[in-house]
Amino acid sequence: MRFTEFNFHPNLLEGIEASNYENATPVQEQVIPPIMAGKDVIASAQTGTGKTAAFGLPLLQLIDGNQRHPQALIVCPTRELCLQITNDLENFKKHNKNIYTEAVYGGASIMMQIRNLKRGVHIVVATPGRLIDLIERKAIDLQKVKYVVLDEADEMMNMGFRDDIDFVLKNTINRESTWLFS
Ligand code: AMP
Repeated sequence: MRFTEFNFHPNLLEGIEASNYENATPVQEQVIPPIMAGKDVIASAQTGTGKTAAFGLPLLQLIDGNQRHPQALIVCPTRELCLQITNDLENFKKHNKNIYTEAVYGGASIMMQIRNLKRGVHIVVATPGRLIDLIERKAIDLQKVKYVVLDEADEMMNMGFRDDIDFVLKNTINRESTWLFS
């Protein structure tokens, strides 16, 4: 399936083209349509099969750029993955300057992350520990988060983040859909 068949905004299609993607990978083909139809999904696929774009592209399509508060939350197990997801999102949204993302992870200055969050962002990519810290400090507003993505959810369970994930889900009370990737 070609990306032009998904009804994405023209500026998102430009970002996809700039990333040199033409055809959707199998996980993208199976996951993008139900996600865009508002369904919850559970997707399991090998690493390197294009899972980031499978949730990243529909997220960028669904986010309302005019509402500058977190609308989507992506939780992942490591700082490296957090930065990689944020980087992929930056590339896809290169032609849509109106959407802001912020990566929040441990081992970096929390004050800087708080300051960036205060400026207003649409998508937050987070590791569990730092996210909980921000929630407890009331430095992140999750009231209007509609979409929650749990990336490498199996890995997060193996690393003992189960209680943290439950806490995050309890704090996203207006969540409309949850997408779990493993
Ligand atoms: P991921 O599984 O999300 O880490 O993606 C693995 C690699 O495949 C990354 O380098 C992506 O940029 C690339 N990729 C993802 N989707 C596509 C696609 N539809 N066409 C070409 N490359 C892709």
